[in-house]
Amino acid sequence: MNTRTSKANPRSRADRPSASTSAVQSGPRFKIGDTMNYEAWVAKAAKQPMVLETVDLGPFEAEDVEIAVEHSGLCHSDLSVLNNEWGISQYPAILGHEVVGRITAVGPNAKALKVGQRVGVGWYSGSCMHCHQCMSGSHHLCAQAQATIVGHRGGFASHIRSHWAWAIPLPEKLNFAEAGPVLCGGVTVFAPLAMHAKPTDRVGIIGIGGLGHMAVKFAAAYGCDVTAFTSSESKFEEAKGFGASHVLSSKDSAAVKKLAGSFDLLISTINVKLDWDTMIGTLAPNGRLHVVGVVLEPIPVSAFSLIAQQRSLSGSPTGSPVAIERMLDFAFTAQYRAADRALPDEQDQRGIRPTSIRQGPLPHRAGRGFLIRLANEFF
Ligand SMILES: [Zn+2]
Ligand SMILES: [Zn+2]
Repeated sequence: MNTRTSKANPRSRADRPSASTSAVQSGPRFKIGDTMNYEAWVAKAAKQPMVLETVDLGPFEAEDVEIAVEHSGLCHSDLSVLNNEWGISQYPAILGHEVVGRITAVGPNAKALKVGQRVGVGWYSGSCMHCHQCMSGSHHLCAQAQATIVGHRGGFASHIRSHWAWAIPLPEKLNFAEAGPVLCGGVTVFAPLAMHAKPTDRVGIIGIGGLGHMAVKFAAAYGCDVTAFTSSESKFEEAKGFGASHVLSSKDSAAVKKLAGSFDLLISTINVKLDWDTMIGTLAPNGRLHVVGVVLEPIPVSAFSLIAQQRSLSGSPTGSPVAIERMLDFAFTAQYRAADRALPDEQDQRGIRPTSIRQGPLPHRAGRGFLIRLANEFF
C-alpha cells in the first residue's frame, strides 16, 4: 500500500481512443479493441457506489499485456482511493490492485510472457523502464510508476492491462484464489523484512490488520522471534495463530516500556497515532522503525533517541517486480497464505457490492484476504 502515483504519467491511458492492434498476439476468447468485451465496476466520483459498466480500456501499448481477471483482492487502499482520502484519486476510477488472471494478449514489444500464462498485478502496473531507479532494479521508486488504480484501470473488471514487467508470473502450483493479497500488502511487508531483518532478529509488528497479519506470518516464516502489537485484545489469540510468539497491547505504554532496547526491527502497519517515543525506545542498538502504514499525522522523533543507540527510522512503498517474485517464491516455499475472511453475506462473498463499500460495513481489516471471485460469478 502506498500513496505514490504520477498524475502526469504518459502511460495514463484513460479516455484515449483505441490504437491499432494489428501486431498484437491475441488470445482466442476476444479481440483486442472490441470494447464490448470489457466490463468493470466503475466509481464515477468520490464516495459514490460503483457501477458495473462496459468500458474502453484505451490503447493497447506495444509493451503491454492484457489479462483476463480471475481473482482480485480488496485492499484498504482501494477504499482510500474510492473515497479520495489521499487526494490523488482520478475519476472515473476502476479499483482493484491485487489481481490474478491469465494473459489473453501480448503486445509486440512485451518480453518473456505468453498468452495463457497466469500472472499477478499489484499496486503498480507500469514504470518508465529507463530512469535510474528502473535501470537499477528499483522500479517501484520510479517517478513515473503507474499506480494500477489511479489514472489506470484496475482489476475489479473482466480485464486489466499492465506493462509486461509488472505482470508477475505466478508459480502454477500457487493457490491463485488466495494469491491476491500478497501482491500488494504481502510485498509491502516482505520487502522491509528482506532488506532489514535477519532470521535471528527480534521483530515487532505494529498493527494486526491487512498488512500486519501478513507481516507476522512472513516474519515468523523467516525465522524471526515475532512480537505483535495490537490495540485490540480480541486479536491476541489470532496474532499468535499467525505465528507471533508474544502479543502486547499497543495502548499499554507501561508494558511497552518494559521492552526497552529489545527489537532489531519494528514494522508499523497502522494508520493511527501511537506513543511513538515509547515505541522507538523498544528498539535495540542499531534497531530500526520501518513505516509501511500511512499515518497522516507526523511521527515525532527525538534526535537523541536515534543518535545515542544508532537507531533508524525508515519507510517503503510496495516492492519491485523482482521483490514480488522473490516474495512469491518464499511464500510458496513457506506454504504461506493470507488469512481468508468470509464476508458475512453470501452475495458479498462473490464480490464487492458497491453499497457495501459506500456504507462501510466492510470490517476495518478489509485488506485481510477478502477474495473476490470475479471471473465466473460476475461476468
Ligand atoms: Zn493495496
Ligand atoms: Zn523509471
